[in-house]
Amino acid sequence: MKYRRILLKLSGESLQGSRQYGLSTEVLQSYAGQIRAAAATGVEIGIVIGGGNIFRGLTGAKRGFDRVKGDQMGMLATIVNSLALQSALEDNGVKAKVLTSIRMEPIGEYYSKSKALEYLESGTVVIIGGGTSNPYFSTDSAAALRGIEIEADVLLKGTRVDGVYTADPEKDPHAAKFAEITFDEVYARNLKVMDLTAFTLCKENGLEIVVFDMDTPGNLGRVLAGEPIGTLVKR
Ligand code: UDP
Repeated sequence: MKYRRILLKLSGESLQGSRQYGLSTEVLQSYAGQIRAAAATGVEIGIVIGGGNIFRGLTGAKRGFDRVKGDQMGMLATIVNSLALQSALEDNGVKAKVLTSIRMEPIGEYYSKSKALEYLESGTVVIIGGGTSNPYFSTDSAAALRGIEIEADVLLKGTRVDGVYTADPEKDPHAAKFAEITFDEVYARNLKVMDLTAFTLCKENGLEIVVFDMDTPGNLGRVLAGEPIGTLVKR
């Protein structure tokens, strides 16, 4: 395997599958199956999930919610998703723990780096819920932060798009995919890999990013085996 320890970022929106809102059991099972296969190879897996399938602070603010409360609602949504994935993983025979960035035992243990490492080293998948615990941040930032903290070899950003393109592939038929790109070129071309807070954290701490399509079963395994799918963002 190419990596010893990974931080996998899953978007909340992907978890809704073809639904308009909430959780798709098909997507959860598909993700759990891919994660089970990955864990069986011995790679240590930390996971951060978004909450966009349930609530986003910014959308809430546009509808009149207080932004900070809206963001807190969004962070709670990431915990709902974390528990759903934990449940799907356990259902598939995978040992998984939820650690929360906001104290809320018995729903999950309070996150610390040492606790995360203890579980990871024992072969348990660690899902870190609750974002960064701060408003005005995203789960991409939480993924970057936790990835750096747990000393992951790479941040794998599983999305519905299969990589980073020169332009939006849904709008521009001439858009071409990068197999590799540097952090500096992403800035120079004004491309969007993650929000800039998250992206800068990765750059400054040397955490490489692979953007890939997690909705095609088997792709997580392909990335871990070093197959050149998706886009690698490196120094
Ligand atoms: N959020 C936050 N701080 C964090 C992480 C998330 O306030 O550190 C809130 C924010 O309101 C965000 C919501 O949680 O809109 C859901 O996360 P995100 O939009 O990143 O989820 P995704 O788009 O990945 O589903």
